[in-house]
Amino acid sequence: MTERPSLSNVQVAITVDDFVLWDGTPLPDGHTSLDVTRAVASALTQAGQTGVYGFAHTYSIAKDPASLACWDAWLGAGHHLGNHTHQHAPLRWMSADDFCRDVDHAEQLIGRYIDAAPERYFRYPMDMSSGSEGKRGRVEDYLRDNGYRNAPITCWFGDFVYIVPYQRSLITGDVQAQTRLEELHVQGAIEGLEKHAASARAMFGTDVPHIWMVHGTPLAARTIGRIIEAYKARGVQFISLEKAMQHPVNFGLPPVHDAFSNHLQRYAVAAGITKPDLADELFGEILFKCPINGMETLQYYDERVLKPIAERVGSPYLWDWA
Ligand SMILES: [Zn+2]
Repeated sequence: MTERPSLSNVQVAITVDDFVLWDGTPLPDGHTSLDVTRAVASALTQAGQTGVYGFAHTYSIAKDPASLACWDAWLGAGHHLGNHTHQHAPLRWMSADDFCRDVDHAEQLIGRYIDAAPERYFRYPMDMSSGSEGKRGRVEDYLRDNGYRNAPITCWFGDFVYIVPYQRSLITGDVQAQTRLEELHVQGAIEGLEKHAASARAMFGTDVPHIWMVHGTPLAARTIGRIIEAYKARGVQFISLEKAMQHPVNFGLPPVHDAFSNHLQRYAVAAGITKPDLADELFGEILFKCPINGMETLQYYDERVLKPIAERVGSPYLWDWA
């Protein structure tokens, strides 16, 4: 008997978050946010994926309206755009009213792109529906009143962790480390889907359509084709986000949770089972690749990406990497 592919019949809708317009994300020398967005878009279309929803906050667009060319290119390649707020703050860092105003601010800047998609989707920053049920409920009412549906994430592989180590490998010109990080990116994507799919089967007794997320970075542009091939070889079937959103697991709402977690992980926390996560050994290797003084991985995200958001929205910096 031949071995059954490990992800046989698992359905996946690909989504792409933040791109290099995530304020504070390092951009490799000689690259622009436009060429990185183009590279991600074309890697997806070359791998047979069109109609992929991207979610990006609009803070960088407000700073530099020329960045809107990224979304012209993204839509021009046959993909769609959703609302991901203006400032990318977790819900628990803002009042419900301020958060809704932030959603509207993004709508003012990119509403015409969002309207070009078959459905109007919204995604919470970091997929974190946190704070309280009452607060999230007010936001959910606001989203519904404005024609949005929340498109959650039910599979990720911590790929933001790779961004800074990959940048370090480009700065130091360490080609071996670049190749290794690309391999680990593909390996992490496989492991991430296997773990989330197993967790979903344990909770729901069957496979559910997964909404998968990768960040739109130079590294993803290089690996997304390989990831899609690896998934296909293991039996994955690709579906649209609209199709995935027909499933109750995706449009239902697991209880809010304050720690950094995705939609499926929040179901696991509520069910009292271990949430799907990648192996510590994998992250251990990525985090410390190509060290550069003053450019430590998690410290970089804390200082350059997350703390400035907390300051902007007037919140204490509440964050837990665990
Ligand atoms: Zn995001």
